[in-house]
Amino acid sequence: MKTEMIIVNKVSQIFKVPEERNKFTALHDVSFQVPAGQFVSLIGPSGCGKSTLLRAIAGLDKPSHGTIENNAKTLAMVFQNFALFPWLTVLDNVAFGLKMSGVSKEERKNRAMVHINDVGLTGFENKHPHELSGGMRQRVGIARALTVSPDLLLMDEPFSSLDEFTAEKLRADLARLWEKYKMTVLMVTHLVTEAVELSDTVVIMSARPGTVKKTVHITLPRPRAKRSQEYYDLVDQITAEIDH
Ligand code: ADP
Ligand code: MG
Repeated sequence: MKTEMIIVNKVSQIFKVPEERNKFTALHDVSFQVPAGQFVSLIGPSGCGKSTLLRAIAGLDKPSHGTIENNAKTLAMVFQNFALFPWLTVLDNVAFGLKMSGVSKEERKNRAMVHINDVGLTGFENKHPHELSGGMRQRVGIARALTVSPDLLLMDEPFSSLDEFTAEKLRADLARLWEKYKMTVLMVTHLVTEAVELSDTVVIMSARPGTVKKTVHITLPRPRAKRSQEYYDLVDQITAEIDH
């Protein structure tokens, strides 16, 4: 296994804005690395280019300048708005990626059920997304990602549209699943507490233009004691680095 899962090297992303004559620099000279097996968070104010960077890492957009080395064999993504297929059942949503790779119906079902169970949705496999709460929908999103056995999981603000009580439960489940499956996770967030709870490394970005401001390593034992002094000190330290 390579030691670096992702190497972002001097990446800039420049958008042409049709209604303006100027070009817009969303990312400027961004460099950082994601070591294999780590949980890394990208944090920064709204508009600093977090989603743009994640899209480039996923290979959905090509950077204007610089290079991205992504050593993932299988990549999966989880989105803020869940991005489920409303006409498919939970089971068919979760098995969707396997269907695309030609896995047999029987095996698709078996593998999907393992991950439906992982996220606590056993018994809901025949429901449709509209019958589920927001938290349950994101559980489907996570199960769908796990079902392709990713070595890299990219998440863009996965808990931002959930109420805090629900988000807290999903964070704890994500931490457990990350340890169970030993995958590399790169998660975009705008919440410092979320980053400190989950991450080995926090990459702090600043805006206009989007750049990496600082990288903070977190070695607190897991599961993180969210009421400890060390935890609050790190939250304060990272918060102080973020431009608001
Ligand atoms: P974040 O996820 O950190 O909130 P984004 O990556 O979504 O930020 O956006 C960064 C900046 O780039 C924003 O100002 C946004 O309007 C702009 N932007 C993103 N995508 C495009 C695009 N396809 N065309 C033009 N501007 C874009
Ligand atoms: Mg975003």
